[in-house]
Amino acid sequence: MDKKGLIVVLSGFSGAGKGTIMKHLLQAYPGEFHLSISATTRAPRQGEEDGREYFFRTREEFDTMIENHELLEYATFNGNSYGTPRSYVEQLVNEGKDVILEIEIQGALQVKKIYPEALLLFVMPPTADDLKDRLVGRGTETEDVIAQRLAISAKESQFMTGYDYLVVNDDLEQSVLNVHSIISSEHFKTARNVETINTIQNELKKFERR
Ligand code: 5GP
Repeated sequence: MDKKGLIVVLSGFSGAGKGTIMKHLLQAYPGEFHLSISATTRAPRQGEEDGREYFFRTREEFDTMIENHELLEYATFNGNSYGTPRSYVEQLVNEGKDVILEIEIQGALQVKKIYPEALLLFVMPPTADDLKDRLVGRGTETEDVIAQRLAISAKESQFMTGYDYLVVNDDLEQSVLNVHSIISSEHFKTARNVETINTIQNELKKFERR
């Protein structure tokens, strides 16, 4: 099989459970995937640490990263900037490792433009009301922010067909299995195994009959 790693983009409405799926995926399959850590101008939430959930940066620092082309993609979400540091992703993919970017839709579509071979997954809850219940239940955001995030989700839903796969997050463990099998299957696509195909074609030449 060809050795290049995959760029996997995982998006979904705020509160759809993509963060939890990611956490469980990394735990269930240790060493199999690498998570890209984004830079953001958003303030840390309680319990979040710089360099673990995000690289928390000032607006000036973030702008400098943009100017220096250090970000693979970046976008504004609810008044804050978020971006994917380029070098980490490129290095891992070249080493044959799969990297997961947990990012919102504008960024995901930028990634697809730069890397058409990227694999885009979208996570949604079973219903819109489930989404609201989960955001309220999380208890990390004010009512205002929740209303803003739901309104953003309504807009984002227009772009879901730009993704390759849909994961309906009803049961967490099943969603983790689904994400894992989608990524695994992707490696077997003929389009991702051109080198392997060329090799066997060349090897088989010795059996050709004239
Ligand atoms: P939160 O503030 O809830 O951590 O994240 C808000 C949104 O920003 C989520 O949809 C999250 O996936 C997205 N996000 C996180 N990092 C990045 C990034 O590097 N680029 C983009 N485009 N979106 C990101």
